[in-house]
Formats: sequence, C-alpha cells, structure tokens
Amino acid sequence: MLMIDSDMNEKQGVSSNLKGKLSHLPSIDALLRSGGGLALVETYGRELVTSALRSVLSETRSSWRDKPQARGASVSERDILSSAAANIEKIASPRLKRVINLTGTVLHTNLGRAPLPETALVAIAEVARGASNLEFDLASGKRGDRDDHIESLICRMTGAEAATVVNNNAAAVLLALNTLAQDKDVIVSRGEQVEIGGAFRMPDIILRAGCNLVEVGTTNRTHKRDYANAIGDNTGALLKVHTSNYTVQGFTASVSEKDVAATAHAHDLPFIVDLGAGSLVNLERYGLPHEPTVAETMAAGADVVTFSGDKLLGGPQAGLIAGKKEYIARIKSNPMKRALRVDKMTIAALAEVLRLHLDIDNLPSHLPALRLLTREQDEISAMAQRLQPFVQEQLGDSVEVKIEQCASQIGSGSLPVARLPSAALVVTPLNNGAIAGKRSGSWLKLLAARFRNLPVPVIGRIEKDAFWLDLRCLEDEEGFRAQLSSLKIKDSLKS
Ligand SMILES: *Cc1c(COP(=O)(O)O)cnc(C)c1O
Repeated sequence: MLMIDSDMNEKQGVSSNLKGKLSHLPSIDALLRSGGGLALVETYGRELVTSALRSVLSETRSSWRDKPQARGASVSERDILSSAAANIEKIASPRLKRVINLTGTVLHTNLGRAPLPETALVAIAEVARGASNLEFDLASGKRGDRDDHIESLICRMTGAEAATVVNNNAAAVLLALNTLAQDKDVIVSRGEQVEIGGAFRMPDIILRAGCNLVEVGTTNRTHKRDYANAIGDNTGALLKVHTSNYTVQGFTASVSEKDVAATAHAHDLPFIVDLGAGSLVNLERYGLPHEPTVAETMAAGADVVTFSGDKLLGGPQAGLIAGKKEYIARIKSNPMKRALRVDKMTIAALAEVLRLHLDIDNLPSHLPALRLLTREQDEISAMAQRLQPFVQEQLGDSVEVKIEQCASQIGSGSLPVARLPSAALVVTPLNNGAIAGKRSGSWLKLLAARFRNLPVPVIGRIEKDAFWLDLRCLEDEEGFRAQLSSLKIKDSLKS
C-alpha cells in the first residue's frame, strides 16, 4: 500500500513538467499529412497507419511517464513515423514464406512436404482466378461431382474401382473407419499402433472415428490366427497400418495383406489399409528402395486404401481413398465427407500431379519431389565444390567450411531406414576465431539462426558439433549465392 502511494506521489510530482513535454508530440493528423505519413497511407491504408501511429505515440508517452530520465530525449516526426512503419511491417509482412530446405530431409512435414510441379501451380492459378466446372458437368449442364476430376486417374493407376479425396490422410483414415465401422470393433495389430508425430496416433483416430479398437498380437509378432480369433459379432473392419516411420527388427512376425484380406473376406468384413506414403509407382525403377504401392496393396486384397497426397505422390496436401465401389460410395455419402472435402485448388494440383504419373518413364524430370529424391550424389557433390570457396569467403576465416558426404532422408515417415547418398557443406567454428569465449553449441545455434534470418531463410541442421547444409534440395544455386553475399554474415559472426 505504502509503495503504491509513494509511486503515485512521485508521478503527481512530475505531472506538470510531463504535460508540457507531451504537448510537444506531433498530432496524429499532422503525422498523417506529412510526406512520410502520406507514403505509408498510400501503401498500407489509412486505418492501419493511424492505429500504428496511435500506439507509437502512446508508447512514447508511457515511457516518459515510467522513465523520468528519458523525458529529455527529443522525438522527431521522423522517429515516430519510422517506428510506426516498423510496427506495420510486423503486422503486414507475410509470415508464411518460402525457405530453402537444406536439412537433408526431402519431404519435410514442418517445411511443407512435397514441392509442386510448375504445371500444378499453373493449374491452381487457373481455377483460383475465376469460375470453374468444379462441381458442374459440362456435357449435361447439370450438377457434377468434384471427385470426377481425379477419380478415373486414381483408378487407372491403382486398379481400384472407385476413389475419392479428402483434406489429408488422417482425415481419410477417420472417414473410412467412421463410415465402415462406426460403433463396431476395428481389429489392428499391436505392432501397428503408429504415432505419426503431432497429434496423429492410430488408437486416438480409431476412437474419434466412433470405433472400438481391438488390439491383437504383440509389439513384435502378430499371426494370422490372432486376427481370426478376434473376429466376433461386433467386428466392423480389419485394419492394417503401414508402419512407415519406424521398423521393428529381430524376432518379428506380421501378417501379409493377402492373409489379412482372406481372413476379413471369409467373414464378409471390409479390410482397410492405411498406407501412409503410398507411392503410385514402384520406386525401384528409379533406383530408390521399394515402398509398397497402392496397386500392390489393392491387388493383395485390400478393400479400401488410404494414402497422403503430399508424401511420395509428390502432390498437394490431401488424403486419397481408393477401393471397392460399394465402400467408396458409402464413404462419399457420409456427411463427414462434406466437412473433410478438399477445395478446387487442391483438386487442380492433384489432378495435374496424377496426370504426370501417366508418363512413368519421365516422372523424375516432371515431378520435383521425385527429382530431388533421385538426384545423383555426383551432381550434388559438384555443386558443393562450386559453392564451398564462396561460402568460406562469405563466412570469413573464423570458421572452416568443408565438403562432407552425407545421407539424406526421404522424410514424412516414408522409407524410414532408406538413406540417399548426398553431399553437404559443413561449417565448423575455429577455436581461435569465432568460438572465442563461447561454447561451440551456442555458437552453432547462433550461426543456424543467422541462416534462418536470411531474406529467404536457409534451414540446415546441427550435428556432430558442426552446422550442416545438405545440398540435395538446393536447386536455385544463384539465388542462394545472392542472398548469402547480400547479408554480411562474416561481420556479424565476428562480434
Ligand atoms: C503420414 C501418415 C499418416 C498421416 O497422413 P497426413 O497426410 O499427414 O494426414 C497416417 N498414416 C500413416 C501410416 C502415415 O504414414
């Protein structure tokens, strides 16, 4: 109480002096009419500029109130305008922006997964700009179905009878389970209780789909009889989840799709497979490890297969559902489908990516995700050779920039143990220079932050006491050089 009183007294004591000062601050009107003010209004509009000026003025007043020693400082019109401009910049500049992914993980979920082909971007712009036949049948002039633009392409490449698409694969699993097994038991192996990172955990999704999870087998071994023994009056579906982000090794046993399908069909039950990455083509043809394709899974007897649009398919975020006509028809008429459906931009991009898959031989040169995954180590090493002296020069002599062979990952939980031979620029602080007085760990964090601060942020990784830039996903070499030189990283590292 006493504290508050004395504080108030102090404030009251200076109030007359302060009033005089405050009246010297320019008015909002005057600021808006000044040259700098007019320019800001021209760019950002009157409302935003006015509110930014108001908050700068009120911050100035309160700082004068709180810090008597600051009161003498003069505040010019220019200072106020430039503070306001900085405030506006914070609000109005885009937060979501392009970055350069040099993490070594190609399909990086946090960095937006698959890069889209130019033709898909054109297709997106085309339908986004105006009206389209999204749900309009041009032949009959009647209402159409948005799935029509992609369904036959999916069927052609998977052997499925029918297909549909929703917002992502998590939604696809949710919708398939809810449609085919609501209030019923869904039988899944204990070895497939997958967590995909973030909030996707298979047991939670099954529960939220309104189904009852029945686990069979053990973490490392599940047998055909385990599925058969678990089937009862209330069974709604058998589910297999592709364990795409880990492998179980050693004394293991799992039941093939074919055997689970036979068990399900002997009881007239649907067999659902959550394939996750779900490639449409056998990746071995491009020298990559084998990942089960949607067609193989359908051929093994799956009735419904779900997979992501932005993993190995190399398209936009989406969840594709392919399968038997009867089941897909039920899935499409579930009211939840309306809540999970994709927009026209996704359909445009997805249709284009599916069309590119028609020419399987040339797919790596047309589909950026596959182009990056199949990039030869020699090509990446050659780029590392070209860039190394330049990056060394930019970072200065307090660090050493070396070229190291490394191994990229596919990412997004696809092919977890597969590694793609690549090359990296590896930055190490030199003891006598950069690192003086700092622990190497904190110095590396600082360096990584400098790269993230570039106009087009560059994202690398810290590993083995060094900062690694895996060059597999660097395609715009010139752009990378230009911004490194524009930002005086060398100088900022010295301090
Ligand atoms: C990635 C993955 C999912 C989630 O897919 P999203 O498209 O990210 O929603 C679900 N199941 C499996 C097996 C996956 O690999």
